[in-house]
Amino acid sequence: MRTGAPSRIVVVGASAAGLSVVEGLRREGYTGRLTLVGEEAHLPYDRPPLSKQLLSGEWEAERLQLRASGAVNALDLDLRLGTAAVSLDTGAGEVALADGSRVGYDALAVATGTRARRLRGTDGISGVHVLRTLEDALALREDLAAKPHLVVVGGGFVGAETAAVARGLGCEVTLVTDTAQPMGDALGDGLGTMLRAVHTEHGVRLMTGALVDHVLTAGGRATGVRLVDGRTIAADTVLVGIGAQPNVEWLADSGVPVSDGVVCDATLHAGSGVWAAGDVASWPHPLTGEPVRVEHRTNAAEQGLAVARNMLAGPERATPFETVPYVWTDQYDLKIQIYGRTRGADDVRIVEGGLAERRLVAVYGKNGRVCAAVGINMARALRSYRPQVAEATTIDARSAA
Ligand SMILES: Cc1cc2nc3c(=O)[nH]c(=O)nc-3n(C[C@H](O)[C@H](O)[C@H](O)COP(=O)(O)OP(=O)(O)OC[C@H]3O[C@@H](n4cnc5c(N)ncnc54)[C@H](O)[C@@H]3O)c2cc1C
Repeated sequence: MRTGAPSRIVVVGASAAGLSVVEGLRREGYTGRLTLVGEEAHLPYDRPPLSKQLLSGEWEAERLQLRASGAVNALDLDLRLGTAAVSLDTGAGEVALADGSRVGYDALAVATGTRARRLRGTDGISGVHVLRTLEDALALREDLAAKPHLVVVGGGFVGAETAAVARGLGCEVTLVTDTAQPMGDALGDGLGTMLRAVHTEHGVRLMTGALVDHVLTAGGRATGVRLVDGRTIAADTVLVGIGAQPNVEWLADSGVPVSDGVVCDATLHAGSGVWAAGDVASWPHPLTGEPVRVEHRTNAAEQGLAVARNMLAGPERATPFETVPYVWTDQYDLKIQIYGRTRGADDVRIVEGGLAERRLVAVYGKNGRVCAAVGINMARALRSYRPQVAEATTIDARSAA
């Protein structure tokens, strides 16, 4: 072990980012005590298939496990699964766990991710679901097997994917979203309009520009939703897909800066030997300096490795984390992939393929510079636009890659 390297490291959150930190540490030659704390009782598993292959029944739960038990054992971890971290004392260098134990550290990684946002007043209503954990997905899958009328609240990634899978399972589906198009926030109007047509062709009833006020019930079971404008939609099952919020409450009073996630510097250090990785980490965008928090699977893995390296280097020698965010979604026979950040784009140009073919690459610009590239069923072509996103080239200078 390097001189000055921490001899006790604790990682809180045992999912994609947390696993990546502990694997990165061992790969970098860290031989000290390594504790991995996870609220869920499972070994780390992958979430993207929850709204795709697991929900459709194509895969069973075992296939989601990110590493076989043997590979986890080989990491020689002090593994504390099924118990949450409840508070942090940065002065003493100790994490308190829900089981009453305390774990000391020299360096700590926060990888506690996000949880699904819920609709107010829906706790305990049978037939109302969110989709974040394996248990959530299995419960929704069980309800969908009865081919209910499903109302999906929210037209983001999780809502749109669930609508697609539920149609495939033969459910009647209504998707309600406050945006003008499904995935309108991520895709903008042009590509969103195309996606809307695809969902409509598959039989999804879309209600856009509409806000759900509350869930209607009878005898503790969901019977529908009421919109803010007073309209009602009957439903047997409701999926609430209205985004996620960072799991940071356990850091209250710890002195770790929190504001829409754990506030880090460019190296993912939040101060006092505390680092953050994955959905929970907010760090300054390398080009704009604006705080960003990315809820993507590959970002979690990349940041985990970066935190492992920087923890061992120490705050003074840590290097900035730089990446081009990448996310994908599968809906029907469409694979939509996004490099960069489309939000706030003021210019969208289709540079290859076209909307009619439903195969295309589009470059998104903001203030004259490339901020994202989106591909629909054109994975290889899309990759060649990644450098333009990384360098934020001027949108006029960009041409077919
Ligand atoms: C249904 C679904 C589909 C998705 N599809 C895609 C996709 O197609 N493409 C894509 O790029 N991304 C997708 N994502 C996002 C991707 O899964 C996340 O970006 C990724 O899981 C983030 O990993 P993470 O480790 O940072 O956080 P999480 O996966 O949220 O894990 C955090 C872990 O920390 C635990 N935890 C929380 N609080 C505590 C505590 N106090 N103490 C101990 N443990 C705690 C949680 O229980 C959880 O296990 C999807 C997400 C969902 C839910």
